[in-house]
Amino acid sequence: MIHNPEIECMSREDMRKLQSERLVKIVKTCYEKVPFYRRKMDELGVKPSDIKSIDDISKLPFTTKHDLRDEYPFGLQAVPMTDVRRIHASSGTTGKPVVDTYTDNDIANWSEGVARVLAAGNVGKGDVVQVAYGYGLFTGGLGAHDGANKRGAIQLPISAGNSEKQIMLMKDFGTSALCCTPSYALHLAECIEKSDKVSIDELKLRVGFFGAEPWTEGMRKELEEKLRIKAIDIYGLTEMSGPGVGGECEYQNGTHLWEDMFYPEIINPDTLEPVAPGEFGELVFTSLCKEAMPILRYRTRDLTRLIYEPCKCGRTAVRMDRILGRSDDMMIIRGVNVFPSQIETVLTEFPTYTPYYFITVDRKNNEDTFDLDVELREEFYSPNPAKQMPYIKPLYDRIVSLVGIKPNIHILAPGAIERSTGKAKHVNDKRNFKG
Ligand code: ADP
Ligand code: ZN
Repeated sequence: MIHNPEIECMSREDMRKLQSERLVKIVKTCYEKVPFYRRKMDELGVKPSDIKSIDDISKLPFTTKHDLRDEYPFGLQAVPMTDVRRIHASSGTTGKPVVDTYTDNDIANWSEGVARVLAAGNVGKGDVVQVAYGYGLFTGGLGAHDGANKRGAIQLPISAGNSEKQIMLMKDFGTSALCCTPSYALHLAECIEKSDKVSIDELKLRVGFFGAEPWTEGMRKELEEKLRIKAIDIYGLTEMSGPGVGGECEYQNGTHLWEDMFYPEIINPDTLEPVAPGEFGELVFTSLCKEAMPILRYRTRDLTRLIYEPCKCGRTAVRMDRILGRSDDMMIIRGVNVFPSQIETVLTEFPTYTPYYFITVDRKNNEDTFDLDVELREEFYSPNPAKQMPYIKPLYDRIVSLVGIKPNIHILAPGAIERSTGKAKHVNDKRNFKG
């Protein structure tokens, strides 16, 4: 089901026209209302009048997470506080959080973005949408909540955690759609498997909207089988409002980005030049509609590529490939670039392992060490190391061939790796430098 066919299926030509109009307007606002942007544009010698269409976007300065921290909390705001209705902040664990503020229109547009993704999973009136993303400053909870409201669905604002209650209400209230991080969804699936009170046969669960962290096709398969649902990827970031910057359609073949609101570019993170169409690089967004905190060319640090071939669903909105990871999640181990999601990909290829893992990187005797904790599934697990041996070898070989580094694998009992209710933490890099 398409929430807003007029926009989601707009011709590419009309979309560019709309983007151009909106860019011209937002650049003018940024220049006039936000001293930070005026300074940055002056430094580059760019005036708002130089921006006549979306083709001129590369003349504009980039904005980085660093800039947002420097301007903390409201330095990038383009409206008076009396026009602000809400404040959110990223869940970032280091330093000051990244702040986003919203006018009424900003909240409405944000909900629109989420509603488009929910509609792709046929969510509408009568659906019970269990929002198990955290509520609070984190954008996940309220973002999904408002999107469900916009679809006319029933919101179940349970927030993250309290898994026993989650599955009890899932059964009692007839939840049809689940919104949470993929790692928490997996944990809920485990709880259902183990529960003597709730069986999967009693649930009406039909679709899940998972995001806020990278996940893999292997994880999708696992979630779809275990929960008997369609698992749809939803993407977003606080800097662009929150979840619902884009999402997958029923074909699950890339994330449609809502380009009428968020203009995407892919750049080479070293040269800052655009990559050739279809190539991988860093995703950059310009907010085309945000009023309270408009953002020009925000460097997300997410690595992906854009797919311009038309999608079978009829939406013309560009698709992005699965996010490989954030550039700051990339580990350089013995000179090899490694993303945590590669380990998830390998683990989900094996029927013997759960998708849970934890990586510890350290440096001993001038050499990087790479320790990988994994869990064997109940049926295969034995505390006896001799019985674990036959399972370690194939995993080791696969990691060496796919990722290119030799891991020290440690087998743990099923359930031993910490389960997360929000974004999972997969890495502890003990080296006091990156790279
Ligand atoms: P924080 O930076 O503290 O994690 P956010 O909640 O704003 O705060 O996180 C946004 C980031 O989460 C994105 O830039 C991206 O790295 C990641 N993310 C969000 N949704 C997805 C998704 N569907 N797939 C992969 N990564 C995602
Ligand atoms: Zn599609």
